[in-house]
Amino acid sequence: MILAANFKANKTRQETQAYMAVVESFVSANAIEDTIITFPPFTALEHTSRNVLIGVQNGYPVQNGAFTGEIALEQLEEFGIKTILIGHSERRHILGETQEQIAAKYRFFADQGFAIVYCVGEPLSVRQQGEEVLLSYIDAQFEGIDLSYLDLIIAYEPVWAIGTGLTPTNEQIEAVHSALRRKTTAPLLYGGSVKVNNAGEIMALTNVDGVLVGSAALSASDFCEMIAQAAELKK
Ligand code: PEP
Repeated sequence: MILAANFKANKTRQETQAYMAVVESFVSANAIEDTIITFPPFTALEHTSRNVLIGVQNGYPVQNGAFTGEIALEQLEEFGIKTILIGHSERRHILGETQEQIAAKYRFFADQGFAIVYCVGEPLSVRQQGEEVLLSYIDAQFEGIDLSYLDLIIAYEPVWAIGTGLTPTNEQIEAVHSALRRKTTAPLLYGGSVKVNNAGEIMALTNVDGVLVGSAALSASDFCEMIAQAAELKK
């Protein structure tokens, strides 16, 4: 299982350090073998961990250069970051990243050997048009994306489920994940309003290899509880 926590623009450096201390000791005390990833904000990337991977929520696909407000490879390398989140719905829909820009970012960080957590997912208006429209919308989010890249994890995150408390039914999650499984052998995460009270059930679904969690993972103890649920599944 893979459990990833996306902090978004939450937590200071100090709060991240305290959070990591809790999660790291939980992982070692319980001999957790699942893969645990956290995506803290840029300001809190400087952290070495033995048992939790630290990834970055975004990066600009250049070595360095005149790109005001962006963070590039050179700065990530300084902190030993080798894991990146690409295609998150907040970057697609709030920050306006196009599929072309996302694909360029994907190619660049894949060429650099990064582990990539690549997010796809549909808005509610697409979901309401039925499964065929939904799957072709998701297919378009794979344009320019090399699905044979070995260090790839895919996260299916319906836009309408992110931060809303709404989740698809288990059958709806399984339907999308089995369509994704036909396209790729990459591990498949589900994301969108995963919480302590539904994480275990979601992780137990067919073709679900883990979860990507936002709001509910801001509590270190809740994230640890989800890690414990994954360990119980022994999937
Ligand atoms: C996310 O942003 O990746 C996410 C899954 O958020 P939340 O868990 O808050 O829905």
